[in-house]
Amino acid sequence: MTVRVNHGASGAEKATLDAPMFDPAAFRLDDEQAATIAQARELGQTLFAARASTYDRDAIFPTENYRDMHRAGLLGISIPRKHGGLGAGYQTYALAAAEIGRYCGATALTWNMHVCSTLWTGPLADDLEMDSATRAEHDRRRAVHYKRIVEDGAIYSQPFSEGGAAAAGGAAFGTEARPVKGGWIVTGKKIFASLSGHADYYGVLCTEIAEGEKASRRNTLYLAIPAKAPGVSVVGDWDPLGMRGTVSRTLLFKDVFVEEDAALMPRGVYFQAAQRWPHMFLTLSPSYMGLAQAASDFTVRYLRGEIPGTPPVKRRMYPTKQIAVAQMQIKLEQIKAIWFQAVSEARANPSKEQVLRAYAAQFSVMEGANELATLAIRTCGGQAMLKSLRLERIYRDSRCGSLMLPWTAELCLDRIGREALYEPGETDD
Ligand SMILES: Cc1cc2nc3c(=O)[nH]c(=O)nc-3n(C[C@H](O)[C@H](O)[C@H](O)COP(=O)(O)OP(=O)(O)OC[C@H]3O[C@@H](n4cnc5c(N)ncnc54)[C@H](O)[C@@H]3O)c2cc1C
Repeated sequence: MTVRVNHGASGAEKATLDAPMFDPAAFRLDDEQAATIAQARELGQTLFAARASTYDRDAIFPTENYRDMHRAGLLGISIPRKHGGLGAGYQTYALAAAEIGRYCGATALTWNMHVCSTLWTGPLADDLEMDSATRAEHDRRRAVHYKRIVEDGAIYSQPFSEGGAAAAGGAAFGTEARPVKGGWIVTGKKIFASLSGHADYYGVLCTEIAEGEKASRRNTLYLAIPAKAPGVSVVGDWDPLGMRGTVSRTLLFKDVFVEEDAALMPRGVYFQAAQRWPHMFLTLSPSYMGLAQAASDFTVRYLRGEIPGTPPVKRRMYPTKQIAVAQMQIKLEQIKAIWFQAVSEARANPSKEQVLRAYAAQFSVMEGANELATLAIRTCGGQAMLKSLRLERIYRDSRCGSLMLPWTAELCLDRIGREALYEPGETDD
């Protein structure tokens, strides 16, 4: 479905834009939210969609898209207005990111890593406990990060994964921060570090550990390490199945000095966030929500003979096509409904029901996006999976969602089953 959009005083029609995934009236969004989300959709459709195949084919970072997002203020989408950002909360950000993912999965996914460095240090940290001196210090430090982003277009990433149990929340991070005068010396390795070589700051999770101490998850630090700091290097290649534009190579930190003010959260606050604000890990899902919509959009247009670059042959009259489209529509609406509910109730100390719903939403989006893409390929047929069209990229990108720690599809199943059957502390002994 498309809507005609009028721009400028003359009211002259400039573009035919897709309808929003979540209609503001139907989903009760206010005008400010609707405007921010519409801006993301317009950028995605008018600029990012056409560039996506190059980033994918060559596995290169979407630098031009980031310049456009900076110009549009979207790098600061979740930075408070008083710091020059758009002041968007969790729900608005998630809906905007889904609209970007609809046109370029890799841009949406990397933008997520960047935005989380502001969302987690901003509205999320505001919900957490800190004494007044710690909060004042946090306010001063985050203002520095926000200024860099708003004024200079600085890009942040989130390299957490190390290949062990830490990114799943099962162990302390192996990347270590040894306290020294004025800061820390950081040493370690991060795998699948999206934006590597392209971010200005790597938002690294590591374990603060003094000589002779045992590593503990309670001592997790979240540090913004400058990409140009001595001792930081990017190694290995990046030639994956999908989400190729994320450029998720390996990062090495060898005796990197990081000053105290680089802390994106005060001591102990990341650990508190992970316990009390679990929806912080649902933020990988919007990109894939957008891909689910993209698979559906493509199928409808293809069967109507409306995909540019293909002959205008209609295939919609066959009952099997209509049934497949109906199945896709039902699946898409189911995913949208649970996901919208889950991103709308993100908060500190959610109820058990809300946490189980968040896992279920993540699972539904990550698995559902790829199920929709699979059905789209079967239904549209051979000509639709040629690399000149976007469907096969949607298929490959969407396959990556279930692999993303800490809430992989498997871990969501694991947690839903266990947490539904056991109350905290309950055992069978
Ligand atoms: C496109 C893309 C971009 C990414 N970008 C980033 C990024 O920017 N930053 C970042 O930190 N990471 C990123 N990741 C990494 C991602 O979160 C995983 O760490 C990565 O996919 C490697 O996982 P693995 O297969 O080594 O996990 P493994 O630890 O080997 O786990 C394999 C699977 O086993 C299951 N599993 C793991 N632990 C448990 C457990 N305790 N109980 C039950 N099952 C378990 C999970 O389902 C998991 O998928 C990215 C991944 C992809 C695909």
